[in-house]
Amino acid sequence: MSWNGTVRCGYCYKSGHNKRTCPEYTERVLERAARENDPDGYWTKIYVKRTGLNPDGTDAPKEAKRQQVRRCTYCGAKGHNRRTCEVLKRNIAEETLENKAFRVKLLAEMEEKGLGVGALVKAGWDQKVRMVAEIKWDFMNHKTVPSNNAMPIIICEIANPRRRDSEYLPLMGECTEHSWGRDRCQVVSPIHQSAVTNTMPADWLTGRSGIKAMFDKDARSACYWDNYYER
Ligand SMILES: [Zn+2]
Ligand SMILES: [Zn+2]
Repeated sequence: MSWNGTVRCGYCYKSGHNKRTCPEYTERVLERAARENDPDGYWTKIYVKRTGLNPDGTDAPKEAKRQQVRRCTYCGAKGHNRRTCEVLKRNIAEETLENKAFRVKLLAEMEEKGLGVGALVKAGWDQKVRMVAEIKWDFMNHKTVPSNNAMPIIICEIANPRRRDSEYLPLMGECTEHSWGRDRCQVVSPIHQSAVTNTMPADWLTGRSGIKAMFDKDARSACYWDNYYER
């Protein structure tokens, strides 16, 4: 799941499927398996697992799919499951810590700029002045903000507050300097810096909120395939 709630493929970036079922990736795997031309090859095994077919199009022996041992769907190792996975726990803890440090800096930038609910921003394709109606705090973390994967600000038209839109963060400082949308949104009338945290969830600065979404059921550890082919 991505931050706006739709499934998006990490391989081809189209929505509606994930990498496990991505037709483009299956095609790529087939090309590599064909190039490998080895029934015990790495890519050939992956292809057989994905499709139940050999790279030449014939049916793979049934055991190839059936004989699967139970493995942790996060780290690929045997002997435990996702719920008890130590790698997953460690990775969540690491991301939480990174996120905590990031959020402390980001909050300082927001306070400095006076960005919060009630601030006026110039935003949108027409660069009209609009009001910040809501901030999706949990959308903002050390991954989504620097890569511009989140539109965490909900802006509304001043004359018609029910016309709302999502917007990127404005360029404020180090935390947002890679923001592609930085010209789209500028604070023109800040709120007082003490009011910025008025809508902030109590646990936001711990870095914990919103992190679970990074580790949904499709998320795999970097060591997944290494573990998978370990004998
Ligand atoms: Zn895809
Ligand atoms: Zn595991």
